[in-house]
Amino acid sequence: MQVDFSKSPDGLVPAIIQDAITRKVLMLGYMNQAALDKTIAENKVTFFSRSKNRLWTKGEESGNFLHVNNIKVDCDDDTLLIQATPVGPVCHTGADTCWDDTNTGTDFLQTLEKIISNRKLNPTSESYTAKLFAKGINKIAQKVGEEAVEIVIEAKDDNNELFLNEAADLLFHYLILLQAKNFTLEDVIAILKERHNK
Ligand code: AMP
Ligand code: ZN
Ligand code: ZN
Ligand code: ZN
Repeated sequence: MQVDFSKSPDGLVPAIIQDAITRKVLMLGYMNQAALDKTIAENKVTFFSRSKNRLWTKGEESGNFLHVNNIKVDCDDDTLLIQATPVGPVCHTGADTCWDDTNTGTDFLQTLEKIISNRKLNPTSESYTAKLFAKGINKIAQKVGEEAVEIVIEAKDDNNELFLNEAADLLFHYLILLQAKNFTLEDVIAILKERHNK
C-alpha cells in the first residue's frame, strides 16, 4: 500500500474509521508510518495522537479496540479509510460514534444487526438471541415461520398494535436467521437492487 506521508509537514495522514457492518463513520484520527505499520501488524487501529504526542492504540485503556477489516487509500494517496469492527462504543463519551448517535429507520436496523452479530460471536447466557443461536438454524427458521403465521393472523384482525408487534417479531427473527446463515440485510438489499435494475 502506497501512502504519501510527506504531503503534510508533520508526516500525518487522516484516517477515517468506518464500521465494517453498518458503514457508519465512527471516528477520525491521524496516522504516521509507525502507526500504520502497527495497525497492519496487530490488525487493531493505532493512531498517532496529536494530544498525547505518541502512538495511541484505540482501546488501550477502555478495551474498545477497533479490529481492522480493510484499509483503503484515497485517490491521491493522502487519506486512509479503515473499515473496522468496534469491540464497544468508539467515542470516549460512550457513544457509538464521535458524531451523531441518533439512529433512525434502516440505520437502526443495521445497529440491531450488529448487536445480533455480537450475540452470535460472544454468547452470553442471559441473552434470548444467544440462546436462539445455540439451538441452531432449524430452530431459528422455525421461529421465523411461527412469527410469519402470527402476522398473517393479526393481519386479518383490526388490532393495529398487535399487528405491528408481530411485524417487529418477524423482522427481528428474520435478522437472526440471516445472521445464522452468515448473511446480512445488505446481501438481501443487493438482490432487491439487482432486480430493480432489470
Ligand atoms: P481508549 O483508547 O478507548 O482506551 O481511550 C483512551 C483515551 O483516548 C480516552 O480517555 C480519551 O481521552 C481518548 N479517546 C478515546 N476515544 C476517543 C475518540 N473516539 N476520539 C477522541 N479521543 C478519544
Ligand atoms: Zn486525497
Ligand atoms: Zn468521540
Ligand atoms: Zn410474535
